Amino acid sequence: MFSVAHRTSAWPRTVFAALLGWVLGAAWQLQQPALWSPWVYVSFMLLAPVLYAQAAPEKIAKFTRKAAPFGLASALVLLAGMALGWGVTGARAVAFASTALAPALEGRDLRVTGVVEGLPQSTEAGLRFTLRVEQARLDGQAVVLPPRMAVAWYASGYALLGEQTGLQRVPAPLQAGERWQLTLRPRAPHGSMNPHGFDYELWLWGQGVQASAYVRAGPQDPVPLNLGQTWQAPVALARQLLRDRMLATVEDRRAAGLLAALVVGDQAAVERSDWDVFRATGVAHLISISGLHITMFAWAATLVTGMLWRRSRRLCLALPAPSAALLGGLLLACAYSVLAGWGVPAQRTCLMLATVGLLRLAGARWPWPLVWMLACAAVVALDPWALLQPGFWLSFVAVGVLFATDSGAARADSTRARGLKQEQSSVGPPQGRLAPLGGSALRAARSVGAMVREQWIITCALAPLSVLLFGQLSVVGLVANVLAIPGVTLLITPLALLGVLLPPVWGLAVQATDLLWWWLSALATWPGATVSWPLPPLGWGLMAVAGGMLCALPVPWHLRALGLPLLLPVVLWRPALPPPGEFELLAADVGQGNAVLVRTAQHALLFDAGPRYSLESDAGHRVLVPLLRALDVRLDTVVLSHRDSDHVGGAAAVLALQPQATLMSSIEPGHPLQQLRTVQRCEAGQRWVWDGVPFEVLHPQVADYDARPAPKPNALSCVLRIGTGAQSALLVGDIEAAQELRLVQAWQGTDHLRAAVLLVPHHGSNTPSTPEFLQAVQPQWALVQAGYRNRFGHPAAPVVARYAEAGTDLVSSPRCGAMRWRSEQPQNVACTREDERRYWHHLVP
Ligand SMILES: [Zn+2]
Repeated sequence: MFSVAHRTSAWPRTVFAALLGWVLGAAWQLQQPALWSPWVYVSFMLLAPVLYAQAAPEKIAKFTRKAAPFGLASALVLLAGMALGWGVTGARAVAFASTALAPALEGRDLRVTGVVEGLPQSTEAGLRFTLRVEQARLDGQAVVLPPRMAVAWYASGYALLGEQTGLQRVPAPLQAGERWQLTLRPRAPHGSMNPHGFDYELWLWGQGVQASAYVRAGPQDPVPLNLGQTWQAPVALARQLLRDRMLATVEDRRAAGLLAALVVGDQAAVERSDWDVFRATGVAHLISISGLHITMFAWAATLVTGMLWRRSRRLCLALPAPSAALLGGLLLACAYSVLAGWGVPAQRTCLMLATVGLLRLAGARWPWPLVWMLACAAVVALDPWALLQPGFWLSFVAVGVLFATDSGAARADSTRARGLKQEQSSVGPPQGRLAPLGGSALRAARSVGAMVREQWIITCALAPLSVLLFGQLSVVGLVANVLAIPGVTLLITPLALLGVLLPPVWGLAVQATDLLWWWLSALATWPGATVSWPLPPLGWGLMAVAGGMLCALPVPWHLRALGLPLLLPVVLWRPALPPPGEFELLAADVGQGNAVLVRTAQHALLFDAGPRYSLESDAGHRVLVPLLRALDVRLDTVVLSHRDSDHVGGAAAVLALQPQATLMSSIEPGHPLQQLRTVQRCEAGQRWVWDGVPFEVLHPQVADYDARPAPKPNALSCVLRIGTGAQSALLVGDIEAAQELRLVQAWQGTDHLRAAVLLVPHHGSNTPSTPEFLQAVQPQWALVQAGYRNRFGHPAAPVVARYAEAGTDLVSSPRCGAMRWRSEQPQNVACTREDERRYWHHLVP
């Protein structure tokens, strides 16, 4: 099979090199900022067999005129694998990108016929579902849409999101598999791009979704038509019926939601406040059916199947218990994954488990690093983009640790090696017959003990990985998971699944969830629940992960101790900060709203906290908290320019995690945020100096607060000036033309308003950014924080023209992502969307 391998001992090295090459090649292709011509990728695919052929010993001997030097053959095989991995991944990406949404169709109303795929999820804002498009028309003409779209059908009167105001109809009760004709307004997938942020566009790419859309169902729009049930989504339909029955049968809302999430993977059934507790205690991965959860389920199913199988001598004679355990565990895990929605993480995990399990069943005695590499290569063949998903690495490391340590399957394997005879004796006399009850109780106790021990090993091994991927380690999570993982995987999930056949069993499941809830809510109140680290550079992070795994390996303790020094660089690493006298602005990409992080050598300030996106999510949770965590920022002050929700939407989430931060704002005394923190009013003339950098509030005046009639919230926006001279910045919130003119008049004849960087007033609305104001500020850079295709049309075309006329470079967040400017290098604005560009990212037309 392997022409390189003349000696039998050489083949593992060759196979390992080929698989490693394949994975590295794919990983390398993922670094491309833009795709190349398909022919380049095809050429690389053709290059692979050529390189591989050169690895034959006789060829190498001919070339070097002596015996093959050590490692040259493996290196050639590695290169062949890389060429193949790079070429295949690139060719797949080109094929997928060719079905993207045509930019000309964005924002147009299309009449689309398609089938509802997967489980429709109802949220407070309305319905969300995936539509498999069959045909689409624009003004009667057929047009081509991406095959799969993420569709939202907003409930009437829900005005928080984007453009969908004035939509009257209540979403129809959709069922999986139904064919509908709907009027949709599509747009390209566009997420926010922040340093260390979640890559929403990559996530959608991995799901095979290339456009989002919402249902136009206003009074003027054609009526949505249900064209009948199809049988194209039987599993999803069964899941939906099951979920509905579960929600109807189980009275306790919280337990019903949790069971629906665990059995059919309907995460929307769990309420937001419950999610907060799951996140705070680090067990959210269990409820969201992550790869890690499937891995644990498979491992538990293996142990339980083996335990039951050993009770029957006849079954054991037919098929040895270890094999039956592996097969049973694998099948149960895959069946469960299908029921729970067959999400991309579940697919990857099942493939990984099947690779490892089938290899063991076939009796192959491969060294475990090779088995592990094969599992990784199999996942990369299914979905190369998994290499960039944190969930993949968590389950990959968990599978590795389970198989490398004395896990259920490994134990089964060693028992198998001891032969069938011993296997029989373990179910038969003497203990089996004399004390069947005591024997099985002892075995069960031993198994539970082993499970808890292995959980602990996995948790410890995953800890450095969690720091690398998420920049935090939940201390409470370590404690919570020790009971929550066995509780959920061994008790609640099996009971909930059994309830599908015998609904009364759900009663027991509810009692178990009550216990879990009691345990988690007690832990959630612990102070200092999470420890966070700044995200380290990748190389150091990988070193720490290797160190964590070394500590978990079944090797002598003095060898394990060698893992500890590998952890040190990550523990000690701190990101670079501006030197004294200098400062840095980071205008986060939060969509339609303001949020600017200002950092000096020792201090940090957040100017506004971004918008609220829906009842369930805001810029605080989604963008700012992860960003502050990744950069290891301890805020001294939060300034909320004014009360509008696109400026204070994320404030509660940020303040909750920054208890030491003081709050400055123009919000009125009765505002709910006043209850979270004592609010100091912004008043013109307030000044302070941080690390040699002066800060000054320029607006509003004290008298403005008591003016009658009361000024509009925009008119009270706090205006903050930072720095001096040519290296200064002006942050202005949503001030309007009148406030601009007042500022210009107040500082007439001075250059006090001059600033290198201006945060464009009111996101680029047409009224402010008056020529007089621009003349006074003379900014070199103008930063616009606005949403992609926002309904207000910000920044307005005349405003863009005014800045161009003034000789100012205008940068906007939809094109740039997060914008970073440093007073040391005033000539540069760094764009996260450009610096971190990959080919799946949306190119704003
Ligand atoms: Zn605003």
